[in-house]
Amino acid sequence: MKPNKTPTNDICAEKIFNSFVWFKDEKIYLSSKVPTIVAIFLLLIMPSEIKIVYAMTETTCSCGGKLHKHEIKQWKMNKIFPIYKQRYKCQSCQKTITTPLNGLADKYCNYTSKIMDLALTIDYIQHISYKKKAKLFKTELRLKINRSTVYLHKKKRHKKYSQEKRKGIRKLLKEKEIGLSGVYNYDEEFIGNKKQKYARLTLLDANTHVIINDQKIPKEQFNSDFIEIFLTYSLKDLSTYNDQTRPNPRHPLLLPDLKKDVIVTDGDKAYPHILEKLGVEQHLCGFHKIMNQRTFTWKEQRRINRKQNSYENKKEKKTPKQ
Ligand SMILES: [Zn+2]
Repeated sequence: MKPNKTPTNDICAEKIFNSFVWFKDEKIYLSSKVPTIVAIFLLLIMPSEIKIVYAMTETTCSCGGKLHKHEIKQWKMNKIFPIYKQRYKCQSCQKTITTPLNGLADKYCNYTSKIMDLALTIDYIQHISYKKKAKLFKTELRLKINRSTVYLHKKKRHKKYSQEKRKGIRKLLKEKEIGLSGVYNYDEEFIGNKKQKYARLTLLDANTHVIINDQKIPKEQFNSDFIEIFLTYSLKDLSTYNDQTRPNPRHPLLLPDLKKDVIVTDGDKAYPHILEKLGVEQHLCGFHKIMNQRTFTWKEQRRINRKQNSYENKKEKKTPKQ
């Protein structure tokens, strides 16, 4: 018997390509899996009468009816590139559907997800102002994006971004079986506007940077008693509260402590007493130490500068103008 020489697993390049890009009359259709950069590339190389249209590959309505091509709707990508979206009409329920661009851009948004993400991910390399970010978009990508829009993009994205980052860190720590180190940083910051100010207390692992607890309270509730309560509860192993199989966990104060050796704080006089009660060693934060030392020098420097300025002013007044 002759061996079968017919190739069975040859890759058909054209077939794969046509599942993403197909042509009809003066239109180039793209599936929503095609990155926006390809749409821009096609738009730039094609004559202006050729329209680039994002279309659906699956044309069945959620009701089960067949979707028929309806019209094309312009989507001004990043407010400069005229790209189109195919609209469909369901033959059964008469609903009209616009091709969703899942992952490429949010619904009703002109800007692509890539551009919106960039407002945030630049900060990963270096923290720069919104004005400079807007300038970067203009010079590098020729996109005129107002700095307030850049701010809105970042605001819209940052929550999901930081949640995913946090999830990633937790996953990595779990995989590598790295637990809490027992050395924690504690500090608070004051935020808010003129009407309402808040104190935000944070306890985080100094080695793994995992946030153990952080809480925002109205500033008027913030005092050394609250710090003590915050640290007492934060240093308890509250994981049973997340355990769905144990519906009635014990009172937090009856739960075992987390690994606790050292807490790094600033030089506030309230800490030694609180930390002694909690049975944790206190270390002073090196950064705060430097700040405390420098504050003295800065104050002295300012005093000398003021004196020198006043001498110079007096000298100027005494010297007659020529
Ligand atoms: Zn339908």
